[in-house]
Amino acid sequence: MYTPKVLDVKTFGDPVLRNVSTDVTEVTEEIRNLALDMVVTMKDESGIGLAAPQVGENIRMIAIGVHIYDDMPLPPHATPGEQMLANLQPLVMINPKITRFSDEMSVLDEGCLSIPGLDAEVLRPAEIELEGTIILERGDQFVNKPVRFVCGNLLSTCFQHEIDHLDGILYVDRASDEDKKRLERSLKKMAKNTKKKLK
Ligand SMILES: [Zn+2]
Repeated sequence: MYTPKVLDVKTFGDPVLRNVSTDVTEVTEEIRNLALDMVVTMKDESGIGLAAPQVGENIRMIAIGVHIYDDMPLPPHATPGEQMLANLQPLVMINPKITRFSDEMSVLDEGCLSIPGLDAEVLRPAEIELEGTIILERGDQFVNKPVRFVCGNLLSTCFQHEIDHLDGILYVDRASDEDKKRLERSLKKMAKNTKKKLK
């Protein structure tokens, strides 16, 4: 039996966060162990999502755990995707792909485990249609489950944020010009500290 471990989360300024990640073509034991580690790491940081590049792996794999905390129940008019995934989280999905974005937009305050201590509002499409393959559900059960669903609310934002990570995009890139200006100094400082650590 593999004992999952908390991984080091890469911070802003680490080039691994800016690469475009490659598809997962085979679910090996190494990938399964990484999936377990990602769930443990996400929960350790009280995060609601974590993408593989954030733990140094440029592969298309994300952990999602929006509805695993008591203070984050399903919204009253939950979309089919939220309902479908409600009891499967924390889950790990490989090769997630957004196949449709709604015209309607929504704004949520976002933060990121790789950019600790900061947050900003981000405007994103409210609903998405998404497909991918779940390889781990309820935090410890391995499956091979291709899924396709429409989802909205916080879960939609979370998926969009995590899938951005797979393309080397961070939420601060999508912040308003005003927020970019507000965050500029902190981000510069963080990048400097990260680069110092990498040496
Ligand atoms: Zn993030």
